[in-house]
Amino acid sequence: MQIRTRLTVRFSLIVTIILVVFSNSIFFISSKDREDRFFSVIKSRALSEGKLFSKDVKEVDTNLLRILDKSRISPFSSVILLAIYDDTGKEVYRFPNELAAPILSKDTIIKILANKELRFQQNKIQTAWEYYAGKTDHYFIYVSGFDQTGYDKLYFLAWVIFFCCTVSILVTFITAYFYPIHLLAPINYIIDLVEEITDSNLDLRLPVGKSKDEIDRLATKFNDMLQRLEESFEMKRDFISNASHELRTPLGVMMVQIEVAMMSERTPEEYKKTLGSLLEDIKNLRVMMNGLLELTEANMQPGSLKLKSIRIDEMLWLAKSDLQNQHPDYKVIENYSNIPEDSSKLVIQGNDLLRTSFVNIMNNSCKYSEDKTVIVNLESKNNEIIISFSDKGIGIPPAEMKNIIRPFYRGSNAKSFPGNGLGLALTQKIIELHKGEVRIDSRVNEYTTVTVILPIETK
Ligand code: ADP
Repeated sequence: MQIRTRLTVRFSLIVTIILVVFSNSIFFISSKDREDRFFSVIKSRALSEGKLFSKDVKEVDTNLLRILDKSRISPFSSVILLAIYDDTGKEVYRFPNELAAPILSKDTIIKILANKELRFQQNKIQTAWEYYAGKTDHYFIYVSGFDQTGYDKLYFLAWVIFFCCTVSILVTFITAYFYPIHLLAPINYIIDLVEEITDSNLDLRLPVGKSKDEIDRLATKFNDMLQRLEESFEMKRDFISNASHELRTPLGVMMVQIEVAMMSERTPEEYKKTLGSLLEDIKNLRVMMNGLLELTEANMQPGSLKLKSIRIDEMLWLAKSDLQNQHPDYKVIENYSNIPEDSSKLVIQGNDLLRTSFVNIMNNSCKYSEDKTVIVNLESKNNEIIISFSDKGIGIPPAEMKNIIRPFYRGSNAKSFPGNGLGLALTQKIIELHKGEVRIDSRVNEYTTVTVILPIETK
């Protein structure tokens, strides 16, 4: 069911229920009020009849009372039958004469005396027994009547309520059906636009209004998501074209070397030299392939990463020995004076990939500085482990700072150094998987400090 239909049905249903309950209450209260009023009317008529009949009013005898009663009959008269009984229960007066009055039993007399009156209603005829106690004589008066005017008013009220309710429900239904068109228009617009979005036009954006309502927030969040998707698509595109370029170039160079070597007969020394150069190229290719494989591994979902307890100072030590095995001339100066005595503050839940990331950062620092030295600082505070790697090397041009973590991106001043531009991308990914952060601070030809911040997960 569409939101619009659902809204219409629910809204109309709620309003209908409210109206039905409300109008029923009004009708019920009015009906009860009419009943009470009419009982009061027939009671006062009964008592005045009793008074006129009693010896308290000597001027009125039975004949005059009958004339008076007759004069009170009109098309709107509500009293149907009046009867007066003496103390013993014997009928002493009845109006009109043609109608039979009920017999007053002993039981009824007891009930009337107990409550001073008796009331009941049957088929809209309301009946009351009243007791009139005069100065010298007492009477039981029976009176029954039909509240024509009261019922007319009540039916009129019922019609008014019914008409108003029907019109209100109809208006509610129509409003509920048409109002959401205006409300849902932006959502329909979003749906149309979303249908148009494919991977080739991820630059499309939804218009965002100024009202900051739910729809605007949805559009904003959707645009943010498109922005991230666009960036990630761009990165993937760049990555593939860079990767193929980086693989094709050394392969091309190797092919040329082989073709040149095969052009004519060569001396064993020349073949050896060519093979040596080919070996060097293959080693570089292998380093790059390993980097790509590790980057793929680091691109995994964080959930699928195998974690274990890792002491960061030990991991740094292992990274240092890896680095110095590859490059014995590189120097690593460790400054661990700020580490806490409680060694648990140096333990995180991590993966062995962290070692690769530390080797990459140390390698860069040594590679890009004349003294081939990196200073490693380690400290732990506020549930975070902070590791900084500083060097006094070539630095990074400020304009390139945001690009250097992109795969295959190499700084303009770093092209003369060996490398493939994968190290920092891989490092960034690995630290991200550990919910950490990489910050880089640098000044060209002065220094570069790469800081890694890793959270310690407290239980
Ligand atoms: P690579 O070192 O193979 O070029 P990386 O991904 O490790 O690739 O680094 C990307 C770029 O970041 C480098 O090309 C270089 O320009 C810059 N960079 C990284 N670390 C340093 C550093 N310590 N000093 C100067 N530049 C650096």
